[in-house]
Amino acid sequence: EAFAALGLAPELVQAVADLGFSDPTPVQAAAIPKAMPDGLSDARQYADLMVSSQTGSGKTAAFLLPVLNTLLKLQNSKFEREKAEWDAKVAAALANGEEAPKKPRRKNPLQSRHFQPAIPGALILCPTRELAQQVANDAIDLVRHCRGLRIATVVGGMPYQLQVAKLQNANLVVATPGRLLDLERSGQLKLNEVEFLVMDEADRMLDLGFADDLEAIHQLTGNRRQTMMFSATFAPRIQDLAMRVMHEGGKHVQ
Ligand code: AMP
Repeated sequence: EAFAALGLAPELVQAVADLGFSDPTPVQAAAIPKAMPDGLSDARQYADLMVSSQTGSGKTAAFLLPVLNTLLKLQNSKFEREKAEWDAKVAAALANGEEAPKKPRRKNPLQSRHFQPAIPGALILCPTRELAQQVANDAIDLVRHCRGLRIATVVGGMPYQLQVAKLQNANLVVATPGRLLDLERSGQLKLNEVEFLVMDEADRMLDLGFADDLEAIHQLTGNRRQTMMFSATFAPRIQDLAMRVMHEGGKHVQ
């Protein structure tokens, strides 16, 4: 399987097969292996990438697949750890002659007393509402076999409360920069746990006047391990942005 050979988890390889993709497109074959970490230890290293890509090239899956793959692996290892801890707790209670503890009930984030700001691990920035929605839909298609990976969309012109509710427990947020900053400033969302930041169609985001917002988001995502910029052009102002937000301006792909 050509996608499995790129190092993707079986859950994602299956989703790609469901979508009818048989081979990676050139941008996928070039970017996906470079975007993957070297292992899963705490010291794992990622490369920052600057990817030249046109619409229709398969660029969306080129950034979604490696980001989802890492989120999935981290999530699966968290589930395994939690299960081992829980099993040990049950075994200890039984060994003490106590009743087995009951699993805590899930809290309903729609009830305001359970409200917590969302703390996603990955953030994808898009220039327009339409593109953000399309990227989020592609992400939802790709995570259909992944347990516990949640996608949220944050765009202007959608009901605020609904977006806030859907943000809870989201691992990956797809957003336009302005609305994202609104939610961050009103305390609904924290960006300090974002490890993966993708700027899709970076040239269009600059055309639309988002340069300051991108800088602000870059500052707020302080624990970042990886940044990827996708752009149709490498105009000097894109290079300037790349130099500010990526390690040595990012490794060029294609
Ligand atoms: P994009 O450039 O991300 O907008 O993708 C353009 C179109 O190509 C979308 O409709 C994708 O579903 C489709 N696509 C992406 N990757 C592949 C692939 N490896 N094989 C076939 N179609 C693909």
